[in-house]
Amino acid sequence: MKKHAQKIGSGEVGRFDQRNTMFSRPKDPERSHAKVLEMGKKHYGVRSFKDNEGYTLLDWAFAMGSWYLERWWGFGNIVGNEGLYEWYPDPAEIAARDRIPPGEKWVVSDPLEMTRIVKKAALYMGASAVGICKVDRRWIYSHRFDPRTLDHSAIDDIPNTFEYAIVMLHEMDYTLMRTAPAYGENAATGRGYSTMAYMASSVAHFVRDLGYEAIPSGNDTALSIPMAVDAGLGELGRHGLLIAPRFGPRVRISKVLTNLPLVADKPIDIGVREMCAVCGKCARVCPGQAISFDKPTTEGLTISNNHGLYKWYINPEKCFQFWVRNKGDCANCIRVCVFNKPDTRFHSFIRWHVKNLPRFDSFYLWMDDLLGYGKRMKMEEIWK
Ligand code: SF4
Ligand code: SF4
Repeated sequence: MKKHAQKIGSGEVGRFDQRNTMFSRPKDPERSHAKVLEMGKKHYGVRSFKDNEGYTLLDWAFAMGSWYLERWWGFGNIVGNEGLYEWYPDPAEIAARDRIPPGEKWVVSDPLEMTRIVKKAALYMGASAVGICKVDRRWIYSHRFDPRTLDHSAIDDIPNTFEYAIVMLHEMDYTLMRTAPAYGENAATGRGYSTMAYMASSVAHFVRDLGYEAIPSGNDTALSIPMAVDAGLGELGRHGLLIAPRFGPRVRISKVLTNLPLVADKPIDIGVREMCAVCGKCARVCPGQAISFDKPTTEGLTISNNHGLYKWYINPEKCFQFWVRNKGDCANCIRVCVFNKPDTRFHSFIRWHVKNLPRFDSFYLWMDDLLGYGKRMKMEEIWK
């Protein structure tokens, strides 16, 4: 097979160790070198506030309020099986609280119908989009890592009977995302994470009340992006993020692994690969110079990359270095991405053309710049 004909995300890959993520390494004195630990101290330490636009105490308090459910009750940004992401709450207690006779079970005679109902329930509960994938064991971390305790242990406790995952997207606010890389963007991200914790735990609870088992997961336990791709929720972009049909990269992802019998969706093609090949806008505006201008490859750049997959690799170390300098996070790559648009009829019409007529991609890009999409908005405008 010619390399350029290879599918984005295909290739040979082993299970990734959570200890190697860029969020774990700055908190890992046993393995990380001084420079990375210093970055961690600066990023996770107490901050000082001045009056610079987008970085005031007001803006930060707004962001932290949006993160509250995740940071105080969820913990799916750190490790699994804790807080709202608990794996096996006592079934007797669940039955008692929800007033269901112990051992009661919903019989699934038609997994396709069950799939339809589960998706509908998740959408009613608040998911922005839902898909189902078969659990590909390559996407489950080889090990979990708790940066608070440095506990590092193999993930070998997910039974093979957990065959499916209910994968959900959670849209982040379009207007707030326009403030990236300031704290308004962080508030949109925080609300996304808090929604993940609420949604994953609620859908898991629904499944448990049906008499089945469910493991709710945020960023913990398994890689969300490949599972979302498998579940037909989007494609992988040059910036290393999922690009979803209606929301572009402006989504967070949660999932629920389960032994409930379901039917998996299929991956989709919305024209991302062709567009990313001619675009490169995210790489041009990346303040950390962390996004590749090159062609896809199977070789990552650091130990925080999952080598072996054919795709565009970002450099997570450079990205994180900018987050430290920025005294926050960033998401410029989400703000400027040509797929980041409000979910309107007009944009749905354009998306159809991007998907079906990729030979005009350069024209769409020219129009995107002409119409001023992706420009930064000041926090002052948010507060008006
Ligand atoms: S978050 Fe910012 S620094 Fe990181 S890859 Fe995106 S644009 Fe670059
Ligand atoms: S900005 Fe352009 S190159 Fe980057 S992910 Fe979006 S479409 Fe692809």
